[in-house]
Amino acid sequence: MQKVSLSKCSTYQESELLSSIKKSLDLIGGLPSFVKPGQKVLLKVNMLGAHHPDKAVTTHPEFLRAVIKLVKEVGGTPFVGDSPGFDNAKKSAEVCGYLKVCSEERVPFVYFNESAEVKNPNGKRFKSFQIAKAVLDADVIINLPKFKTHGLTGITCAVKNMFGCVPGLLKSEYHVKVPTRKEFNIMLLDLLEVVKPALNIVDAVVGMEGENGPHAGDPKFIGLIAVSADAEVVDQALYDAVADTDFKLVKLLPEIVVPGPSFVRKIVRSFLLEKPVVKKKKCTSCKICGKVCKSQAISYPSKYPKFDYNKCIRCFCCAEMCPEHAIFVSRSRFTRFLFSTISRLQELRASLSGRNEK
Ligand code: SF4
Ligand code: SF4
Repeated sequence: MQKVSLSKCSTYQESELLSSIKKSLDLIGGLPSFVKPGQKVLLKVNMLGAHHPDKAVTTHPEFLRAVIKLVKEVGGTPFVGDSPGFDNAKKSAEVCGYLKVCSEERVPFVYFNESAEVKNPNGKRFKSFQIAKAVLDADVIINLPKFKTHGLTGITCAVKNMFGCVPGLLKSEYHVKVPTRKEFNIMLLDLLEVVKPALNIVDAVVGMEGENGPHAGDPKFIGLIAVSADAEVVDQALYDAVADTDFKLVKLLPEIVVPGPSFVRKIVRSFLLEKPVVKKKKCTSCKICGKVCKSQAISYPSKYPKFDYNKCIRCFCCAEMCPEHAIFVSRSRFTRFLFSTISRLQELRASLSGRNEK
């Protein structure tokens, strides 16, 4: 099992960030064990789109600055990059604060415009991936995810952040190929075989909680920095760290396998599963959601999007990419009732087992 370290960090103030990240790195062997002098080091931020750092959607720019400084200190040559799903990459990098930091630190920001096919003979589901060429240029990848909730995967952190190495809208095409959560997770693990970060340094100083993550949930102070060479291990460690706090996680239903004819399966899935819904007051009719949806589940009979829930695979790319946060994840009353009953039963079980232990 790979080592993981968690350190407290209460602000995005430079000196505290530098000392907390360094402390976390030292606990797992120190940065020189991962970066050698002269190596080209890609700092892969989470740049979901053009979101101001205060929204907690993207890796904080001061967090990036601290890692740039540490990489330079050990003789590495850092460069920064990512590819949003739909938004203009340059505008995103500017609004997220990355262009300013990169210019001040004299480090290039690279756009993932071109891609190349990379074979993955050991992949369980995907035997090849289209990967941004800039990623393939790196000697070392350091993954800098943000810890957030996610409607499809529960949380998004180190494992999911590497999906950004697939450029732009190509990501939505991969979503369509893996319509269930289980398959999507297998795809993410296949991808990690192709683009394996040497290190994962997670920005969980302020994360995002609630059902509308990873783009429109609520910023939540967590006060942690987590580091590991293993993306899965660091994700699990942070999940465990917030699980017993007041952090609002997304409660995912198990994948529903409904027997019977396909029309019955569709009706039951449609009734039980969470689904994207538009808030008409916020919608500006830009139609970006329709371009993002590769399942052809969105049409525009009026100026607002209409969802075909039989075609919808619940990837929530439309919600992630809506610039107005006009699409939210909705659950039926029955599903809410089911969730609250399950969570009450879990609490009851935990309190009974606590009593028994005493
Ligand atoms: S829901 Fe969002 S993405 Fe879709 S048309 Fe309205 S504003 Fe645009
Ligand atoms: S409607 Fe939205 S959630 Fe459904 S498949 Fe299309 S992009 Fe995914």
